[in-house]
Amino acid sequence: MSEGLATVSYIGAMILFILSLGGLSHPETARRGNLYGMIGMAIAVLATVFGPRVSTAGIPWIIAAMVVGGSIGIYASRVVKMTQMPELVALMHSLVGLAAMLVGFATYIDPAASSHMTGAEKVIHEVEIYVGILIGAVTFSGSVIAFCKLSGKIGGSPLLLPARHWLNLAGLLVVLWFGREFLIADSVDAGMTALIVMTIIALLFGIHMVMAIGGADMPVVVSMLNSYSGWAAAATGFMLSNDLLIVTGALVGSSGAILSYIMCRAMNRHFISVIAGGFGTGGAPAPAAGAAQPAGEVLPILPAETAELLRDAKHVIIVPGYGMAVAQAQHTVFEITRLLREAGVDVRFGIHPVAGRMPGHMNVLLAEAKVPYDIVLEMDELNEDFPDTDVAMVIGANDIVNPAAQDDPSSPIAGMPVLEVWKAKTSIVMKRSMASGYAGVDNPLFYKDNNRMLFGDAKKMLDEVLVALKA
Ligand code: NDP
Repeated sequence: MSEGLATVSYIGAMILFILSLGGLSHPETARRGNLYGMIGMAIAVLATVFGPRVSTAGIPWIIAAMVVGGSIGIYASRVVKMTQMPELVALMHSLVGLAAMLVGFATYIDPAASSHMTGAEKVIHEVEIYVGILIGAVTFSGSVIAFCKLSGKIGGSPLLLPARHWLNLAGLLVVLWFGREFLIADSVDAGMTALIVMTIIALLFGIHMVMAIGGADMPVVVSMLNSYSGWAAAATGFMLSNDLLIVTGALVGSSGAILSYIMCRAMNRHFISVIAGGFGTGGAPAPAAGAAQPAGEVLPILPAETAELLRDAKHVIIVPGYGMAVAQAQHTVFEITRLLREAGVDVRFGIHPVAGRMPGHMNVLLAEAKVPYDIVLEMDELNEDFPDTDVAMVIGANDIVNPAAQDDPSSPIAGMPVLEVWKAKTSIVMKRSMASGYAGVDNPLFYKDNNRMLFGDAKKMLDEVLVALKA
C-alpha cells in the first residue's frame, strides 16, 4: 500500500472514530456508533499492516499475532457474562498500558529507531519514551488492581497507608530525578537502569493509587483508567510516530476524562480527593463490602401483593441496580412495564449515574430489553417526583437508594446524591437477603415504615409478579 493510500485510510478511520463517539452519546444511536468504530478499527489495522512501514517479511508474524490475539478476544467475548463486563473492561485497559510499556522499551533498545537522531529531536524522542512507559505502567498495574477489586478478588475497602501522600510525593520526585538521569545517560545500559527504576515506581504507584480508593468511588477509577489507557495509546503513537494512534488515544483519553468528571459530579466528589484516596472515610478504613451489620425490623411482601400494589398505582418509578444485571431480569421488567402501561399506569425508570458496575450499565440492559428510551430518565430528571409516586420499585439496587448518604455524615457514601425512593407512598426493595451493596454499608431504607422487602432472586420474583399481574 502506498504512503498516500495509507494516509487517506488513516484520515477515514479518524473520521469514523469521531462519528463513533458521537453515536455512543445516545442509546438510540449507540449501535450505529459501535459499527462506525468497528469499521474504523478494521481500516486502521489493515492500513497499518499493509502500509509502507511494515516490511513484507514482517506480515506473516503480524498475521500470526493477530490470529492468536483475535482468538483470545473472540473466546473472552463469548464466555464473559454481562455481569463480568466491568472486570473485562478493566483488564482490557491493563493491556493498553502493557502495550505502551513494551513499545517504550522496544523503541529504546531498537538502534534503528533513534540512531539518526541528534540534539532536540533525540531529547524529544526520549521524553516520549519515558513518559509513555510511565503512563503505561500506571495504567497497567492500576487496571489489574481495579480488575481484582471489581471481580471481588480484593476487598472493596480502601488501603490507607500511613503518610500515603508523602509516599506518592517521594515517588514523583524519584521519577523526576531518574527522568533527568535517563536524558543525560551516555549509554543504553545507564538509560535502561533509569527506565527500570521509574517503571517499578510507576507500577507501585498504580497499585497504591487504586488500592487507596474506597468501594463507592470505584466508578471514578474505572472511568479514570479508561482515560489513562487513551493517553497510554497516544504516548505509544508518539513513540511509533503514528498519527492515527495519537489521535485515537487523545479521543479515548479526553472522553474518559470527561466521563470521570461526570462520575465525580454524580458522586458529589472532587476528582483530586478521589485520586488521593480514602475520601469520605474520615481517614479511617471504610467497612469491607458485605461487612455491615443490619439493624432493625423489616416488613416483607409477597409477589402477589406486589402485583396488587402495582395494579392499583397511578405512578410507578422503577429503580434498577446491579442485582437486576446479576439476575438478568431486564426482560421480565420490560414485560411488567408493558402490562402496566397498557393498563394506564404511568411507569418510568430512574437511573443513577453509578448504578451497576460500569457507566451506562442499566441503560444498556434496558435498551437490550427494548424498554422505550423516553421513559428511562436520569436521577436528576425525576428525583423530585417521588412524593407524587405511588410505588417505587427497587430492583437489585442498594447503595444508590441509601438515605444514609443524606442523613449520616459519617457514612462512607455521605454526600453522594441518591434516588429518594423512600419519599414514595410505598417503596418495594427486591433483593435476596439483607446483605449490603458494593460500598459495604447498611441501608436504613429497608427499615422504613413505608418500605417492603421482596426477598428472592429478582428474575424469579418478577416472574411471579408478572404471573400475578396477568391473572
Ligand atoms: P449495590 O452493589 O449497591 O447493590 C446491589 C444489590 O443487588 C445487592 O445489595 C444485592 O443484595 C442485590 N442482588 C444481587 N444479586 C441479586 C439477584 N440475583 N436478585 C436480586 N438482588 C440481587 O448496587 P447499586 O446498583 O445500588 O449501586 C452500585 C454500586 O456499585 C455503587 O456503590 C457504586 O459506587 C459501585 N460501582 C459502580 C460502578 C459503575 O461504574 N457504575 C463501578 C464500580 C463500582 P443481595 O445480595 O441481598 O441480593
